[in-house]
Amino acid sequence: MNDGKQIWVWVETLAGQVKPVGLEALHAGKTLAEQLGATATAVLAGGPDATVPEAVTGSGVQQVLLIQHPHLDPHNSLGLVEAFAAQIQSRQPAVVLMGATNHGKELAPALAAKLGVGLATDCIALDVEGDTLKARRPVYAGKAHITFQFGEHRPCLLTLRPNVFRPSQATAAEAAPVETVTAEIPEDGLRLKIKDVVQAAGRKLDISEARIIVSGGMGMQKPENFRLLEELAEVLGAAVGASRPVVDNGWREYSNQVGQTGRTVSPDLYIACGISGAVQHLAGMSSSRCIVAINKDPNAPIFDVADYGIVGNVLDILPVMTAEFKKV
Ligand code: FAD
Repeated sequence: MNDGKQIWVWVETLAGQVKPVGLEALHAGKTLAEQLGATATAVLAGGPDATVPEAVTGSGVQQVLLIQHPHLDPHNSLGLVEAFAAQIQSRQPAVVLMGATNHGKELAPALAAKLGVGLATDCIALDVEGDTLKARRPVYAGKAHITFQFGEHRPCLLTLRPNVFRPSQATAAEAAPVETVTAEIPEDGLRLKIKDVVQAAGRKLDISEARIIVSGGMGMQKPENFRLLEELAEVLGAAVGASRPVVDNGWREYSNQVGQTGRTVSPDLYIACGISGAVQHLAGMSSSRCIVAINKDPNAPIFDVADYGIVGNVLDILPVMTAEFKKV
């Protein structure tokens, strides 16, 4: 295990299920391991009863490390930093990957600080040249990309943007062995304890992981009109997003906001409805695979990034789209 050629993937789970970003990180980790001639290890954490889903054991990784402790259920990033750092220090993986999710964004910098290593965040591509790992990420609201190259410190710590990497499929003929370790988390070192996790009522699909997003801007004109977006989203199995002024006006929750000061999303399909396409909005969605824009102004900047554009009144067009998709 201490050969310095292990690629670790922290697999994020929710209610015992692997989150899509966990599968994406697994696939990226396995690919990297093949390129570097290394082994891929999936790392999961949870309480004393935590188990490993088949999607992980059958993903083709060589091994699975399950870190257990009562303080890790529900998820406690401070506890996890302690437990994870201890495992990294004793087993010395070369690379550690995790999703650039809320949990990953909390965990990765704390881990990097504790271990004294560098961190590449929100990566959209990984590349290996010789023995060197390079990672690419967008900067300046998506206007440019930079490539990181890691120095001598190990592990190379990276977070991956959700919905960019291909998800892993559970197709391995043999299940990977699971090693369970009980974490040592100093009671007095835990400055935060999670007492309860309450799921928001009527919880909708999370926009950062949705494959399709139907997003509304000020062109929706009033909060009641978001019903039209909800209806289309229901038919498409999509999440509903929003521009910032919509959120600032209290029409939608902040968790719906796409853009520089909201969420960064990379769905397969982003339908922008009555959104002008300000640079701060584009910062959060321009890496979407296909962008459809509906706007009554043919000169709206959103059309510059759109793959398909519809010029017209969004309030007329949305019901027609919903009716047509219902027929499919
Ligand atoms: P508007 O700019 O008002 O555009 C409305 C659009 O709807 C127009 O193009 C109009 O032609 C169209 N329209 C109107 N009626 C109809 C109709 N009936 N049918 C079809 N089209 C119609 N914005 C974000 O979205 N996310 C961010 O994270 C974000 N962060 C920011 C951070 C900073 C520091 C700053 C300064 C700004 C930020 N903004 C952000 C705000 C951003 O600059 C824009 O003001 C905002 O994106 C505009 O939102 P909008 O397109 O919904 O509204």
